[in-house]
Amino acid sequence: MPDRFESESRKLLGRLRDTMASEAAGQERLDQITHLTADSMGTEVCSIYLFRDEETLELCATQGLNAESVHQTRMKLGEGLVGRVARTGKIINTANAPSARGFRYMPETGEEIYSSFLGVPIQRLGEKLGVLVVQSKTAREFSADEIYALEVVAMVLAEMTELGAFVGEGAALRARHTQPVLIRGATAQEGTAEGHVWLHEPRVVVTNLVGDDPETESLRLNEAVENLRVSVDQLLAGATRESGDTEQVQVLEAYRMFANSKGWLRRMEENIDRGLSAEAAVEKEQSDVRARMLQANDAYLRERLQDLDDLSNRLLRILTGQGAQTGAALPENPILVARNIGPGELLEYGRQLRGIVLEEGSVGSHAAIVARALAIPLVVNAKRIQAEALNGDHVMLDGDQGIVHLRPDDTVVSAFRDKMAMQAKAQERYASIREKPAITLCGKTIRLDMNAGLMADLPSLENSGAEGVGLFRTELQFLVRSQMPKRNELASLYARVLDAAKGKCVVFRTLDIGSDKVLPYMKAQDEPNPALGWRAIRVGLDKPGVMRMQLQALLRAANGRPLSIMFPFVAQYEEYTAARAEVDKALAREKKLGHAVPERLEIGAMLETPSLAYACNQFYEEVEFLSIGGNDLKQFFFAADRENERVRRRYDTLNISFLTFLENIITRCAATNTRLSFCGEDAGRPVEALCLAAIGLTSLSMRPASVGPVKHLLRRCDLDVVHKIIHDARDAGEQSVRPAVMEYLRGLS
Ligand code: PEP
Ligand code: MG
Repeated sequence: MPDRFESESRKLLGRLRDTMASEAAGQERLDQITHLTADSMGTEVCSIYLFRDEETLELCATQGLNAESVHQTRMKLGEGLVGRVARTGKIINTANAPSARGFRYMPETGEEIYSSFLGVPIQRLGEKLGVLVVQSKTAREFSADEIYALEVVAMVLAEMTELGAFVGEGAALRARHTQPVLIRGATAQEGTAEGHVWLHEPRVVVTNLVGDDPETESLRLNEAVENLRVSVDQLLAGATRESGDTEQVQVLEAYRMFANSKGWLRRMEENIDRGLSAEAAVEKEQSDVRARMLQANDAYLRERLQDLDDLSNRLLRILTGQGAQTGAALPENPILVARNIGPGELLEYGRQLRGIVLEEGSVGSHAAIVARALAIPLVVNAKRIQAEALNGDHVMLDGDQGIVHLRPDDTVVSAFRDKMAMQAKAQERYASIREKPAITLCGKTIRLDMNAGLMADLPSLENSGAEGVGLFRTELQFLVRSQMPKRNELASLYARVLDAAKGKCVVFRTLDIGSDKVLPYMKAQDEPNPALGWRAIRVGLDKPGVMRMQLQALLRAANGRPLSIMFPFVAQYEEYTAARAEVDKALAREKKLGHAVPERLEIGAMLETPSLAYACNQFYEEVEFLSIGGNDLKQFFFAADRENERVRRRYDTLNISFLTFLENIITRCAATNTRLSFCGEDAGRPVEALCLAAIGLTSLSMRPASVGPVKHLLRRCDLDVVHKIIHDARDAGEQSVRPAVMEYLRGLS
């Protein structure tokens, strides 16, 4: 790097700092920056374009272009060279702008006389804020050092924008993080909530961008990197010692490699040499990594860059003293906002959260499973929520629609509160029938159970009015830990579940892992199609160690009390007999050891694959009960992945084919006197539940929050009438019975 330029870069940064510290109003500051950048870089033009909205850029300040075009000239994302820089996030450096691809002439700016063009994106932590441009008459390409200098100015601009430095008199810029924002994500747990943002990982704000003395900054950086290395070594030692969790150990080993990487440190030191403070040097390097991440096609490389990004965050926290442990207390009615969160961390927050918004996440993620168990509204896939939300912001969460209203305006607030009030009224109605049975107008009684998976669910047994637990998903206990639970731990947990159920029936489903449920401490299988892969009972039978341990834990937990065990994902008779043989063996072992055995033991299976609907009669005669896992059954019936947003809602549960298929199962169970229930998500949707009852299902198991609404509707309906409606719709050649059933419901008083 030539000395001359180095000192220019430092000088430029020094002048920028003065601007940052000045009392000038927003617009004036922007003007000063364009002026001093053009001056320092020896160009005739320097312009700042910022986003007006997600799609439009506006010229907000310029040195060299027509002053009248400021706040007048606008362009769409992707339009012209500036729009292209904004869209791609890539620099454009050309000696001959008018002939460059995509050039668009803006007559009002008078820019046609400038030949050279250098545009760099203004972005912060991957969030696009605008474009910074220099132009000159002389036809030349800009050097690497000049590009660097302009990137640094763009970074300073981004930080200043974040700090609200350009808001103020005459700025015509909206203050960031003050406007209402509506973010559409996907529903992972229904429900509504109002509260205040709690950032799981508050972002680090770098206020000190310019370094006075490179030596001091370099010392600070080296000390911080050393601290980081020590902390990564400690984490690694802990992970290796405690869990042997290969996945976590691998990630930490990558962290260690990066933390010790000379190239990484050298690049950051070069940033310091060019005038940045230690934290700005880290952030500059982080931005470069993010840019590479966006372009990386290779999944492995992207993951490693993601590791490096996480590491930069840790380093920034060390340098700035900001971080997760800020000492701040949770706000009132906290709504957690995070990029993603693990199930264990979520459980630590527990029920104190009113809602959760995840920037990534998926409907089937572990966090979603825990949120569902805790009945906390959850929206996943909420793009940009991390960039938009500030700690303490007012937020309204519509988990039913997958919508987040951040800093909502008065109209939204009042409409939303009306909706919440209506829901509260409905809750009161449900509470009033809590102790009453779900008897329909035609006198049929439907058993309503609840699904559970955590100890935290059990209080709902009383509150919801459920008769028992129709599905206890035991995998949650495995998913929320960092290592395989021990038999005694499980036995005591299951015993506590049975204690809390106070004699009500609890159906324990054995470990259902694989597919969407991957244990963090078990080697992930690289399967082309995990939903059709090595999962649930297939794993249990192929590697019986865990299944045996779990069966033993269940038998011990029962300690003489009645016990119901259900095997997931049974696809053929033989799998059931093999699993049952394991129970018999476990039972014999317990007897031999002199332990109490259950006074009554029922063994059932989940019907989640179409094949089991056609299993031989012997199976139906032998199995003590069946529970239809509608979530899986439906995905296989329609060949539509339950995890794939594109197709998962494509086929209606009330589709005639599916209902006819279910009716066949009901008929077979009736003929063999096999107890049958339905425990997929559809059981908790009132209209679906009504139709399931109308075709002959007498037992439904659902989320606790659904028991009230389902009971309320069943008590108002005549199943014989609905049965006829369904059959008439089928005879009429309808695809779904929903329209006809909805018509009937509209006619109810
Ligand atoms: C189902 O598949 O319907 C079911 C209840 O099991 P899970 O959702 O846990 O796969
Ligand atoms: Mg299932």
